[in-house]
Amino acid sequence: MQIFKVGGAVRDRLLGKPVTDIDWVVVGATTEEMLAKGYRPVGADFPVFLHPKSGEEYALARTERKSGRGYGGFTFHASPEVTLEEDLIRRDLTINAMAEDDQQNLTDPYQGQRDLEARILRHVSPAFAEDPLRVLRVARFAARYAGLGFTVAPETLELMRQLSESGELEVLTAERSWKEISRALMEDQPQVFIQVLRDCGALKVLMPEVDALFGVPQPEAHHPEIDTGLHTLSVLEQSALHKQPLTVRWACLLHDLGKGLTPEEQWPRHIAHEHTGLKLIKAVNERFKAPKDCQELALLVGKYHTHSHRALELKASTLLELLQSFDVYRRPQRFEEFIAACEMDARGRKGLEQRSYPQAEYLRGAAKAAREVAVQPLLEKGFKGPELGEALKRERLKALKAYKENS
Ligand code: ATP
Ligand code: MG
Repeated sequence: MQIFKVGGAVRDRLLGKPVTDIDWVVVGATTEEMLAKGYRPVGADFPVFLHPKSGEEYALARTERKSGRGYGGFTFHASPEVTLEEDLIRRDLTINAMAEDDQQNLTDPYQGQRDLEARILRHVSPAFAEDPLRVLRVARFAARYAGLGFTVAPETLELMRQLSESGELEVLTAERSWKEISRALMEDQPQVFIQVLRDCGALKVLMPEVDALFGVPQPEAHHPEIDTGLHTLSVLEQSALHKQPLTVRWACLLHDLGKGLTPEEQWPRHIAHEHTGLKLIKAVNERFKAPKDCQELALLVGKYHTHSHRALELKASTLLELLQSFDVYRRPQRFEEFIAACEMDARGRKGLEQRSYPQAEYLRGAAKAAREVAVQPLLEKGFKGPELGEALKRERLKALKAYKENS
């Protein structure tokens, strides 16, 4: 049997990038031989094994054929006769379809190295269209390597467009889609992921609520970029520049969905978009079964981001309501993430990327003032049950009034 490094490990070494996980392909072996060498099988009918020591993935060379819709609709054929070239041709992009032996001799039948040098994301063969997940994968690689100058080849974008129009994207499971979306949002330029999905018509299918923001104007005084879609891309861009976690990036993507529902007569104003957007945010959250912390933060940022921008003008009672809604006493981290997302929203505007956001410090100070109200003296005065809750609120309100006066 022969063993080759494949996929990301080869690509990233040639790019001079750190290689984290290594995928291997095994040519000329049977399942029985692999088991006899101590490799552990990963799935029942999938010819993939884990190395007994390193735990890395070793896949038998295989060919694939589409036999139905969706991911389940694939038949695999793995046998010792399948060649390396046959295995590589089923892969998504030419830059992912190179293999390397232990002497670093490159096998590159589909010109991956040429495309790597030309900074092009190009599909390997027409079989690309057999798995709709590849639309998301290409957009994700575009987000990762945009900084190196990579773009999607026009003919690949065209295939992605056909896939998006064919109805195949709808067959993707929430789990497979979320895995790609969440990884893409954590890349260096997550806004490129959304832009590429939009360019090939996939955004309209996957997140019509986000797609609808393009072409919707906002008041130029607050939004020099005017277009709500462009604003959303900038907010995402800022979230990556500021190394925000996934929860914040997800909230950034969804914070303004309500603006897509504003009747045209009201443009460029968006009265109560924070409220109208909530059901859309909920729908997108649920469509991809986003993790609970992502769902929660997106809804809270959607509902309260304008509160944050106006923080310095808020009445003490409104500040208190805000802090109570966030349960800032028990969930201080979530409030921090809210502030971060709102700051990204403020900076994700053309020409305003470097502005300061004094609201952040102000809100942190307010949270601190409210948190510092001690329960003990109230207990000592004999408050309990709901009355204790009310007394605590009164004290916090007092503390916030004092905070407002002193800042
Ligand atoms: P990453 O750095 O994100 O791990 P990767 O290229 O290693 O990138 P993996 O998901 O680990 O991506 O997959 C390893 C290889 O398997 C890819 O390089 C590609 O050749 C192939 N591959 C993975 N998923 C698909 C797919 N859906 N369609 C076609 N080829 C795929
Ligand atoms: Mg990999």
